[in-house]
Parts: sequence; structure tokens; C-alpha cells
Amino acid sequence: HRYSSSGLLGIQERTLVAVKPDGVQRRLVGEIIHRFEQRGFQLIGMKLVQAPKEVLSEHYHDLQEKPFYPALINYMSSGPIVAMVWEGHNVVRMSRAMVGDTNPAEARPGTIRGDLCAHISRNAIHASDSFEVAKKEISLWFSDQELIEWQSCIHSNLYNM
Ligand code: GDP
Ligand code: MG
Repeated sequence: HRYSSSGLLGIQERTLVAVKPDGVQRRLVGEIIHRFEQRGFQLIGMKLVQAPKEVLSEHYHDLQEKPFYPALINYMSSGPIVAMVWEGHNVVRMSRAMVGDTNPAEARPGTIRGDLCAHISRNAIHASDSFEVAKKEISLWFSDQELIEWQSCIHSNLYNM
């Protein structure tokens, strides 16, 4: 079993990251991918998608009762999204730290939202918030055939193992 939330050395995990429609429109895709590559995470899947409403309502099912929910679904379907799966040790927790607070007004400088975003309703990026949620979101957005297993030649330099 290769994946775990334990974060133990030697155990990989995966997370779903998506550049939202505002991020794609603002040409932030390259910047965002660059940050994940530089951190050492490994790209396992990636596609440009116009998200179907059924996928979005499943993706944000826990927010259905929120007043901003209809606007959120409209925003998320307003244009293409770049959906990605990234792999690495502690990638779920580390991605959330890289993304920063949901509200860009609270997001620390150095985070993606803290550097690149101005408002909570246009915060450019999604990242799964737990290992269990990541598993669900990856299977919601990607088929098994769309995920590529490949050997990284930098592994021993990244992880000392
Ligand atoms: P995330 O995991 O940091 O993306 O935040 P949540 O899962 O709590 O919310 C999902 C998304 O809904 C956020 O990224 C925002 O795009 C949007 N959202 C959350 N809270 C608010 C809010 O109070 N107002 C508005 N307009 N959008 C919100
Ligand atoms: Mg969330």
C-alpha cells in the first residue's frame, strides 16, 4: 500500500490541485505549476477541463447550504479549470500550506493566495484539505487511466532515501 496520511518517510500520498477559472484567465497556470515542481512534488495527472455541474456539485457538496454556493458553482463553471494530481511525502498538508488561507485577505505572503489573489470569491486555486478528501476528489476528477505512474530521478536527493 503506497499511500498514507501518516507522512512517514517512504510513504507517498497524492492530492488534487486545481487552477480555478480566474487563475486560468489570469495566466497563473505556469506560476502555480512552477511552485509545485520546485517544491519537489511529482505530477501524476493533468488536464484542462470545462467542469460539468455534476462534478462541481459533488466536489463542493459540503458547501451546499452556504449563501455563496450558487455563485461558487457559477464561478467554477465560468471557464476552463486545470485539474492536477500531485504526489509526494505529506503533499496534502504541504499543498494547503503553499495555497494559503481561503480568504486572500488572511493569506500569508509567500503563499499562492497571499501573493496572487485579492478576494475570497476569486482565490485562483483549489487543493484537497485531507488525505481522505484527496482520495475522493482524485477519483471524482480523474479516471485511473489518466493517472501516470513514473519513476522520478530526483527522489533520493529530495528524500534522502
Ligand atoms: P478552500 O478549501 O480553502 O478552497 O475553502 P472552502 O473549502 O471553505 O471553500 C471552497 C471555496 O468556496 C473557496 O475556495 C472559495 O472560492 C469559496 N468560498 C469559501 N468561503 C467563501 C465566502 O465566504 N464567500 C465567497 N464568496 N466564497 C467563499
Ligand atoms: Mg475546501
